[in-house]
Amino acid sequence: MKIICIGRNYSEHAKEMNSPVPEEPVVFMKPDTALLRENAPFYYPEFTKDLHHEVELVVKISKAGKHIGKEFASRYYNEIGLGIDFTARDLQAECKKKGLPWEKAKAFDHSAPIGFFVNVDELKDKNAIDFHLEVNGKTVQHGNSRDMIFSIDELIAYVSTFVTLRVGDLIYTGTPSGVGPVKIGDKLMGYMEGKEMFGFEIR
Ligand code: MG
Repeated sequence: MKIICIGRNYSEHAKEMNSPVPEEPVVFMKPDTALLRENAPFYYPEFTKDLHHEVELVVKISKAGKHIGKEFASRYYNEIGLGIDFTARDLQAECKKKGLPWEKAKAFDHSAPIGFFVNVDELKDKNAIDFHLEVNGKTVQHGNSRDMIFSIDELIAYVSTFVTLRVGDLIYTGTPSGVGPVKIGDKLMGYMEGKEMFGFEIR
């Protein structure tokens, strides 16, 4: 399986990064070794001094497809979950400055913690999914899928023009504003529509 990530999909986050609001989706990938499941602890890597949390809705692909039309995209997923796109912000800034790819900053081992998934049919409205991240009991990021610049269906259509999607692939759909550093000892808890989706510790 592969992990496809979308950058700058919420305008308030693009603003806080001093990045322009994109005219088309910003796409990058993480390998399957980036996954961190079942609330396992995350070990702070030695190569960064500025590790940031980015909480994101995650779409699980349920049917293989290529060149998927936006109007058919909803047939290609039936579960949505919540995860973190951990980012070594210091390395990312260096990569950006040099015009280099972001993999070192984004695709490292366990950079993609993932929690539970919920069936789309159980959601009130998949285009207005409320989610938030708490660090040590304090809400640090709060988002709603209605504020996405590109909707889930638009993202599937766009990504599948370049990359074949397969069953089990994950799409991290971008983070709302409020990204910030984590430190050893922090407890991260993610909620979607009020339901606890993950909870793990930084060690
Ligand atoms: Mg992200």
